[in-house]
Amino acid sequence: MHKTDATHDPNRTSWVESANDPATDFPIQNLPLGVFCRKDEDEEEASVGIAIGDQVLDIALLAREGLLEDLEDEDEEIEGALDSPDLSALFCAGPEIRQMLRERICELLTAGNDEINGKKKLRKAALLPMSGVRMLLPAQIGDYTDFYASIHHATNVGSMFRPENPLLPNYKWVPIGYHGRASTIVVSGTPIRRPNGQIKAEDDTPPVYAPSQRLDYEMEVGFFVGLGNELGVACSVDAAEEDIAGLVLVNDWSARDIQKWEYQPLGPFLSKSFATTISPWVVTMEALRPFRCPAFTRPDGDPRPLAYLDSEHNEHSGGVDLTVEVYLASAAMREQGTAPVRLSRGSMREMYWTIAQMLAHHTSNGCEMMPGDLIATGTVSGPNRENRGCLLELTWDGPGQPVTARTPIELPTGEKRVFLADGDEIIMRGYCERDGYRRIGFGECRGVIVPAEKLS
Ligand code: CA
Repeated sequence: MHKTDATHDPNRTSWVESANDPATDFPIQNLPLGVFCRKDEDEEEASVGIAIGDQVLDIALLAREGLLEDLEDEDEEIEGALDSPDLSALFCAGPEIRQMLRERICELLTAGNDEINGKKKLRKAALLPMSGVRMLLPAQIGDYTDFYASIHHATNVGSMFRPENPLLPNYKWVPIGYHGRASTIVVSGTPIRRPNGQIKAEDDTPPVYAPSQRLDYEMEVGFFVGLGNELGVACSVDAAEEDIAGLVLVNDWSARDIQKWEYQPLGPFLSKSFATTISPWVVTMEALRPFRCPAFTRPDGDPRPLAYLDSEHNEHSGGVDLTVEVYLASAAMREQGTAPVRLSRGSMREMYWTIAQMLAHHTSNGCEMMPGDLIATGTVSGPNRENRGCLLELTWDGPGQPVTARTPIELPTGEKRVFLADGDEIIMRGYCERDGYRRIGFGECRGVIVPAEKLS
């Protein structure tokens, strides 16, 4: 099981006052990792940081000031990792070192500790308001894979195209995925240009090359790989669990019209590769320990996972009790000062496959995973309409209803949406709650749609 410790104590408070606000995503029990630069500096000056309340603590600076010496004594390579503007070096240092870092930062930030708080100059240099920094991608992502792990999402999408046979026969045996595009992963806040692509109308007319008219988001969760595995050597499901460093929120932007025309026979391609947005703060597996839960309970009659995807530990605590929410704000809503509206709320508990099963399956043919690889779960959807994590599902009227009969979402301005319009902003949030523990959050994963590149 995933043991909790003194760093998860819900009564612990910080001398950073904003971290004690019950509404903050970043109390002292969270301590997510990110990469940032000061707003007046360029990206070459980027540092590893930790979010605390509405502030960012510069970890590289603490290391230079000698405050993390015990860690450096423990692992010689950690000094370089703390000084690198890329978290993959820290991810592959492994869970023990990350835990030591967590314990030390927790100690430094706890109310009453004066090692930073008592030194005015150091505090001013190391602790920066979030409004004064720019968040960058947390790691150089070499490879990106997207799974399809929600049985609710797979069943809904399947029902639209194969009403009599929604779930393909492989679904309950194989964690389905496709290779995504790492080069177009962007950090929260980056504008998303509506893609141009080949679109084919229902009638006999030939396809046209035009801006997508059916632009959608997909609410997903991503995880970063730690050390990875050796080429040709598969990873067990328990070893995979140990090699997951932390989670982020992922928006797998999807152009449904391009997807519909191109996806057979090799799956999604240009309908997905134009952009994927991730949240900047990596919530570590150490922070998530209190919120682990059993894997999805398979209904009677479903097969057990094959042995390489099965373990007692995975079945008992391979799940993550993470709630995810999607909000939309149109340009008109922002102009009027109207708050974003919530479109859906789902839970990672509903995923048919655990993150460890996804990683183990990915390596099961000997495929080599590398530090900093990002793997996403696929759209997180649940059993009810309000749990559906994309517009393709959300505006569809359900089993038996044609794909074309869609009920638009009405916004407070009176605007209607079946898919996204230019100027729409999608905001994703995620949080974990459990009695006896402090709530921790993921911050936000945002993106505004900007008009397509003009075609001459
Ligand atoms: Ca997806």
